[in-house]
Amino acid sequence: MSTEEQRRSALRALPSVDRLATELARATLAERRAELLAGALADDGDEADLVARALDLLRPSLRPVINATGVIVHTNLGRAPLAPAARAAVARAVGYCNLELDLETGERGSRHAHVERTLCELTGAEAAIAVNNGAGALLLAAAALAGGGGELIVSRGQLIEIGGGFRIPEVVAQAGARLVEVGTTNRTRLEDYSRAIGADTGALLRVHTSNFRALGFVEQVEVEQLCTLGPPVIDDIGSGVLVQDEDGPLVDEPSARRSVAAGAALVCFSGDKLLGGPQAGLLVGSATAVAAARSHPLARALRIDKLSLAALDATLALHRDPELARSQIPVLAMLFADAGAVDARAQLLAQRTGGRIVQTESRVGGGALPLLELSGPAVALDAGSAGPAGLARALRLGDPAVLARVHRDSVLLDPRTLSDEDVDRLAGAVRAARAACGAGG
Ligand SMILES: *Cc1c(COP(=O)(O)O)cnc(C)c1O
Repeated sequence: MSTEEQRRSALRALPSVDRLATELARATLAERRAELLAGALADDGDEADLVARALDLLRPSLRPVINATGVIVHTNLGRAPLAPAARAAVARAVGYCNLELDLETGERGSRHAHVERTLCELTGAEAAIAVNNGAGALLLAAAALAGGGGELIVSRGQLIEIGGGFRIPEVVAQAGARLVEVGTTNRTRLEDYSRAIGADTGALLRVHTSNFRALGFVEQVEVEQLCTLGPPVIDDIGSGVLVQDEDGPLVDEPSARRSVAAGAALVCFSGDKLLGGPQAGLLVGSATAVAAARSHPLARALRIDKLSLAALDATLALHRDPELARSQIPVLAMLFADAGAVDARAQLLAQRTGGRIVQTESRVGGGALPLLELSGPAVALDAGSAGPAGLARALRLGDPAVLARVHRDSVLLDPRTLSDEDVDRLAGAVRAARAACGAGG
């Protein structure tokens, strides 16, 4: 078909005004009728509201959001934004691709092969696999090394909840392992573990206290010591720092390379926290332990999809060059952002929105680096009669949607999580939101 014919055929396929309007009206009215029958008050449903609702039905539910909260790894906003190379890799993988095909032999291949070499190179491990998310990585590790009733020995100081109800004792139970608690909430020593080791010990589990810190009279066993005891060690390091940061903002986060060097059988971490890639869970470690995880029935249930795998592969490739990683991977670029660049973006944003600059602290978020405060400027908007909650709501409901931070009487826009390209769109969104909620400005 020629382009002209295609165009004509597409024009013919357009629905009639009547059909489009009727369908939309039916859906909107049915929804409203159901609300009224369920007891909703009529005074919040004037005609204008229903027209807005009908238009809303045409918008996709999942929408891009401008993150002006300053929270870098924002779980509610999809955690890590992808690097340009990772976005391009996703676009290349959307059609057919050699996900599980060895192009050389034409035989069935393994999806894990696409990232295993780079993961091993970056962490020093013998073998690696990627699964659906960090929680899945830990579940699989526990099931592979201590499932079927084996004992999993964990310090009482590490029986933590990660968020969304993901609790270590429950994960251990779901993995089919028996939890053996040792030590106390604040102090656990090497002897506590060694005394608990017996014939049924499947593995020793260490879990990084990602989202909180215990301070004061505390003691936990380092991974190097734990690995001297004999049983395989599972080390859930959480955030996915590959190489120890010597003095930067990531200095408090354990690295995968360190745990691998210590001899941990399986090191588990997330793909979309400080690694800055897609949602994924990574398992790196010894060849035998990774083989046990790979052949466990849960591995199939937890397997990673091709789009995430493509993004992960591209993100890992950037990590090969630490300089490149810090400039190209958004999470790292924001964490290591030069204060001058953030200041300049704040100035521009203040100018374009009529806000004023205030000093604030932003957080990393996503249950990582709970003590780290990133100080810097933010732009405070005067919310006028709409009040801060009213203006914040109008910003959320705008197009593009904007997530701001409400602090006392003002709405704050934090430049740390914005790109320079966001500033223009954000200024437009602020104008529209002010008009929509009568906040003036
Ligand atoms: C975040 C985290 C997890 C869960 O990882 P997800 O990628 O969120 O599923 C597990 N363990 C630790 C220590 C974590 O910090």
